[in-house]
Amino acid sequence: MATAKGYAAPAASAPLAPFTFERREPNPDDVVIAIKHCGVCHSDLHMVDNGWGMSIYPIVPGHEITGVVTAVGSKVSRFKEGDRVGVGCFVDSCTTCAQRDLDREQYMPGLVLTYSGPQPGSDLPTYGGYSDHMVVKEGYVLSIPDNLALDAAAPLLCAGITLYSPLRHWNAGPGKSVAILGLGGLGHMGVKIAHAMGAEVTVLSQTLSKKDDGLRMGADHYYATNDAKTFETLAGTFDLIICAVSAGIDWGAYLNLLKVDGTMVLVGAPEEPVPLNAFALIPGRRTLAGSMIGSIKETQEMLDFCGRHDIVADIETIAIDQINEVYKRMAKSDVRYRFVIDMSTL
Ligand code: NAP
Ligand code: ZN
Repeated sequence: MATAKGYAAPAASAPLAPFTFERREPNPDDVVIAIKHCGVCHSDLHMVDNGWGMSIYPIVPGHEITGVVTAVGSKVSRFKEGDRVGVGCFVDSCTTCAQRDLDREQYMPGLVLTYSGPQPGSDLPTYGGYSDHMVVKEGYVLSIPDNLALDAAAPLLCAGITLYSPLRHWNAGPGKSVAILGLGGLGHMGVKIAHAMGAEVTVLSQTLSKKDDGLRMGADHYYATNDAKTFETLAGTFDLIICAVSAGIDWGAYLNLLKVDGTMVLVGAPEEPVPLNAFALIPGRRTLAGSMIGSIKETQEMLDFCGRHDIVADIETIAIDQINEVYKRMAKSDVRYRFVIDMSTL
């Protein structure tokens, strides 16, 4: 066992504070990682507040992790000391299912979340990336392309894959009209990735205050959702809407922006239920769908795609002791566009 330093929330909605804990002794198939950077996802905030009712305390959040390998077990073949690596939202899964269906392991019942997840054979929860090091099974470690900086690449491990996966699954590309709803951490990755895939991209944001940024990231169009005219102008426009909003919205109003047979995919996970009038779906044969992160194979595919297209997050680097302040800013949509913790400040 090695002692790790981190930051944890001791109970629901309690401020994060320094926390010391033990990481397991590396097994032969484990990789030991010195964490350099960790992105701050809105899910960290939902989890610290127990907004989804599934949190196990104390919580050491963090699932957008980049760092450098410091040691590998005897059976590890893909990584060596000094490699630049990443860890995303899960660190283990149900191996029998995963062997059968490697590319959908994030939906398997045996998934072990990177933090606040129950661990088979242990009373303790998993502890995430707001910490100095991690011990992770080789199969759940990703390679970061050489041209991507470790700080700005960290958000790819959750925000990047969470948008890449549905954009691929619902065939975003040339000739497809795609709207990204909410220009936060996830949304801004969606704009960059959908643009690189060749889709026509529209941002739907609460106001026009981030319009210049959105266009710079690759959006073709940008509309404010606080303007009722937006919903008239864009009715029946999109093949695909990806909703990356962290709060409840008027779902029917957005579904009405889909073409016939269009799909709206929820990646944003508000804490309240989604109320819906059946006629928001019926007249246009529309689909309302959900999508969760991506598999390990797809996450590596996304990282390589971002490497080829030079895509990283727009980040604001913070010291770990700013984390409670940053959560307050995130709750007010005051994010441009991902906070990333410099772990040397721990
Ligand atoms: P974020 O950086 O805080 O961005 C959320 C954005 O949603 C804000 O920037 C804002 O965009 C918009 N928004 C917030 N409150 C709103 C409101 N009341 N009405 C309308 N728009 C509002 O959050 P994030 O890290 O991107 O995460 C977004 C959501 O995705 C969270 O619920 C998170 O838990 C979830 N998530 C899901 C997955 C998955 O696998 N499905 C993975 C990661 C995260 P504008 O300022 O542009 O309006
Ligand atoms: Zn996340």
